[in-house]
Amino acid sequence: MTLHTVSAFDRIGEENAFAVLARATELARQGRSIVNLGIGQPDFQTPPHIVEAAVKALHDGHHGYTPATGILPLREAVAADLHKRYGVDVSPDLVLIVPGGKVTMYMAILMFGEPGAEILYPDPGFPIYRSMIEYTGATPIPVPIREANGFAFSADETLALITPRTRLLILNSPANPTGGVTPKPEIDRLVAGIARHPDVAVMSDEIYGQMTYDGLAHQTLLAYPEVRDRLILLDGWSKTYAMTGWRLGFSVWPQGLYENARKLAVNCYSCVNAASQWAGIAALTGPQDAARAMVAEFDRRRRVVVEGLNKLSGVGAAVPKGAFYAFPNVSRTGWKAKPLASALLEEAGVATIGGPDFGVHGEGYIRLSYANSTENIVEALRRIGEFLERRQAA
Ligand code: PLP
Repeated sequence: MTLHTVSAFDRIGEENAFAVLARATELARQGRSIVNLGIGQPDFQTPPHIVEAAVKALHDGHHGYTPATGILPLREAVAADLHKRYGVDVSPDLVLIVPGGKVTMYMAILMFGEPGAEILYPDPGFPIYRSMIEYTGATPIPVPIREANGFAFSADETLALITPRTRLLILNSPANPTGGVTPKPEIDRLVAGIARHPDVAVMSDEIYGQMTYDGLAHQTLLAYPEVRDRLILLDGWSKTYAMTGWRLGFSVWPQGLYENARKLAVNCYSCVNAASQWAGIAALTGPQDAARAMVAEFDRRRRVVVEGLNKLSGVGAAVPKGAFYAFPNVSRTGWKAKPLASALLEEAGVATIGGPDFGVHGEGYIRLSYANSTENIVEALRRIGEFLERRQAA
């Protein structure tokens, strides 16, 4: 028997972080001591008042389908939160509740990707952007994200890649995997340039928007009226409230695209599970001290990880300005990034992700998630240091 699946599946990719997690779990199961700095999720529990809200929702009988777009009080809470955070006005009617931030990029890329279309995306960047672009048959156009530019988008370099075939530009700040934050003046210039290309839609992935350091304020694309009619905002609860497993995210769509997004929801998952949605309300309207404490803790670990990395021979780490990743340059170790990440896992028991898993411009770097205890981070740095001494000397 030969099953003929569509050729798009020859092109779809995935996230190597999950393969690294599986391998790390397998090694641990065999009795090896593994420090996992591979996976990008907070090592905290969801704050108890959020968990309680979900339990209460289940006891209160919220067991059925909800509207495909999400329950109104949650969409209202999202709109109020965006107003509180950024001073922007967003209609709850343009907020879509989705099962995780990833679903927004899936929908946006499906809406704009087809053969002949070009989609710009950050490289290094979240691997699903490119994977989904290729799945649709569109041409992926990487926007290089350079260490020399503080791992920020360069407005000039990005705008120069726009052609008459460009349909969608994907932005991400604070960024995975680099921890880079694009400064406001650069975003201003980028938006001014995009305003001259009215046929290009923008998807701004701001899932790490509440994780910035050194007093830096997050600059949302929602604050620019000149692109609001073609802006898709990707955000959610996963990182901010340690809720990766709840599968809860939201997007803000322009009027003209909202219906398409709603139809995709109806065709695919009907609605997000009801209890998660009630938990989402508690997260946004309840006390924020746990979320703030988490960011303060990431900030402390960020310093430990950067200081430790910069003491290792052949390693140079820029200070991440947001998210919870360090993206050290390892090119002077003499190792290629992927073999290094692999050897660190197999021989030193430290899970990291090789930069090329985030795109060709990730060569020479590895990603370390510092969403792990300081004790584990220190131990990982010790192991990496020992490994590099041993293998450089060999
Ligand atoms: N966007 C970026 C840049 C991410 O790093 C991630 C998760 O790692 C997501 C989106 C997806 O988030 P979620 O788990 O809510 O689907």
